[in-house]
Amino acid sequence: MLTEMQIAVLGGDARQLEIVKKLTELDAKLYLIGFEQLAQTFSGAVKEKINDVDFSKIDALILPVPGTNLAGEVDTIFSNEKIIVTEKTLRETPSHCKIYSGISNAYLDKISKKANRELVQLFKRDDVAIYNSIPTVEGTIMMAIQNTDITIHQSSVAVLGFGRVGMSVARTFSLLGAKVKVGARDLAHLARITEMGLEPFHLDALKDEVKDLDICINTIPHPVLTAGIIAGMPTNTLIIDLASKPGGTDFRYAEKRGVKALLAPSLPGIVAPKTAGQILANILSQLLLEDLEIREENV
Ligand code: NAP
Repeated sequence: MLTEMQIAVLGGDARQLEIVKKLTELDAKLYLIGFEQLAQTFSGAVKEKINDVDFSKIDALILPVPGTNLAGEVDTIFSNEKIIVTEKTLRETPSHCKIYSGISNAYLDKISKKANRELVQLFKRDDVAIYNSIPTVEGTIMMAIQNTDITIHQSSVAVLGFGRVGMSVARTFSLLGAKVKVGARDLAHLARITEMGLEPFHLDALKDEVKDLDICINTIPHPVLTAGIIAGMPTNTLIIDLASKPGGTDFRYAEKRGVKALLAPSLPGIVAPKTAGQILANILSQLLLEDLEIREENV
């Protein structure tokens, strides 16, 4: 149980509600900042304005998946309040207070380093990334269906990148009957792609491999689908770019050439916010229980 633990939850979307639900069930005391328009109430959680919270009593600070923007602002769909996290906010917390977010950026890295507070990026964890790849794939299937006039079955699909998302995407599209080839640069990845019964190709050969595609799904957060590559694609190819913003596609050139290219960020939060929230809630509750145990051992 998380009894005695005081946690500030700052902003977010529907995923955050699963976290609030789970942590209040574990008896933590929660301060919800940026939630005043939320009708739902949770026993053990109070809605607060950021300026009214006594951060010196906060044991953990939970940010939304994107963390803050580069000006320190936190997004929330449940409030019009401007919520800004600063180095001063973090300095007010006790030294054991950890900051949890999905991902980080230069601003969040900088203020947590300067305030000397540990920043935990949940999406850097393999377990979270792999669980999260499940709703990501479902969202990708939805986008493929909505944006093509052919079945996925028998379509010619290339998946670029063979990490946590790429592997799940490639496997699922293949199971749906697509002819899937996967581009990677690591020889071990090419071996695994072969072992999975899919067609491997080295990314160096990308230009030759895009000539016959119905759908190209990019998971590489690097400019891989350049103007030169897109120029070799049939104009009816659909590009679904899953890589984090700004993606790996030259969208300007794709539009010029008439190739439909979609940047598709945050699919888990869109297609399955409850599941995506539960994935985060499960791992967060484990991490917070570990934090509490360590603190109790050190008392
Ligand atoms: P990952 O496990 O790190 O995989 C990334 C893949 O990209 C690896 O195969 C890696 O190859 C390859 N790669 C990276 N840089 C490269 C480069 N310069 N040239 C060639 N290949 C390169 O990441 P992931 O968890 O699969 O996530 C992939 C992307 O999707 C990330 O940007 C993530 O933020 C995003 N994402 C989006 C959604 C969504 O809803 N759209 C959901 C989850 C994740 P090596 O192993 O050879 O480095």
